[in-house]
Amino acid sequence: MPKTQVNHRLLFDQCILCRNACHRHTGICQSCLQDLPWLPHHCTRCALPLSSSLQTLCADCLLKPPAFSLIRAPFSYQFPLDQLVGKIKYSGHASLIAPLALQLALQIQHPTESPGHPFPDLLLPVPMHRHSLAKRGFNQAELICRIVSQQLKLPSDFRRLRKTMETRHQRELDKKARKQNLRHAFECLPLDGLSVALVDDVMTTGTTLNEISRVLLNCGASRVEGWVLARTPEA
Ligand SMILES: [Zn+2]
Ligand SMILES: [Zn+2]
Repeated sequence: MPKTQVNHRLLFDQCILCRNACHRHTGICQSCLQDLPWLPHHCTRCALPLSSSLQTLCADCLLKPPAFSLIRAPFSYQFPLDQLVGKIKYSGHASLIAPLALQLALQIQHPTESPGHPFPDLLLPVPMHRHSLAKRGFNQAELICRIVSQQLKLPSDFRRLRKTMETRHQRELDKKARKQNLRHAFECLPLDGLSVALVDDVMTTGTTLNEISRVLLNCGASRVEGWVLARTPEA
C-alpha cells in the first residue's frame, strides 16, 4: 500500500471489521485489508473478473462495447463487502463508507492496471430519485463521491445529473426489462466536452452505468468512466 496523505476528516482509529486499533487511521487494519476480496484479473473495460489471464476483454465487451470507457473497482462484491454495503444502505451505517471509499481513491491514485489515463475533469455520483433519497436519508454514491473527490482533489457536482423518474429495483428484472426500466429516468445538464467519472457503490450488471453513460455522452461528455467500490463477479 503506497504511502498517502489521509484527509483528517476520514480518520478512524479502530478497524471497522475487527475493531482492533488501526494505526494507519484508514479505518481498516492491515491484516483485514489483506483479507478483503480484491478484484482479481478482470475485463479492462467492464471489470468483470475473467477466468483466463490471457483474456483482456470479456465476451460482452468484445461483441457490444458499453458506453463507458472503463470501470475502476478495488473490490469484488463478495463477503464481507456485500455485508458492509448492506449495512451502509439498509441499516443507516453511513460512516462505514469512508474507509471503503478511501480504498477506491487510493487505487485510482496508484493504479496497478490500465495506468496512463488522465484523471477525469468531473466526478458525478449516480443519483437517486428524490423519493428514494427521502426514504434512505442519504445517497451512498454521493458520500463515496465526496470522499474520492476530496482525496484526489477533483471537482464533483451533485446537481448536474438527476434521476427524474422512479424506477423498479434492477435486481427484480431480466436484462431486457432492466434497460427498459431506466429509459428516460436520468437527465443531465450540458457537459461541454468534459470527461466524467460516474461514482457508485456497486456495479452488478452494468445496465445502470451504461444507461447513464449514454445520457452523459449525449449531453456532451467526451468520455465516461465508472468508479465503484465493488464489482459483482458475474453479470
Ligand atoms: Zn481489522
Ligand atoms: Zn467486459
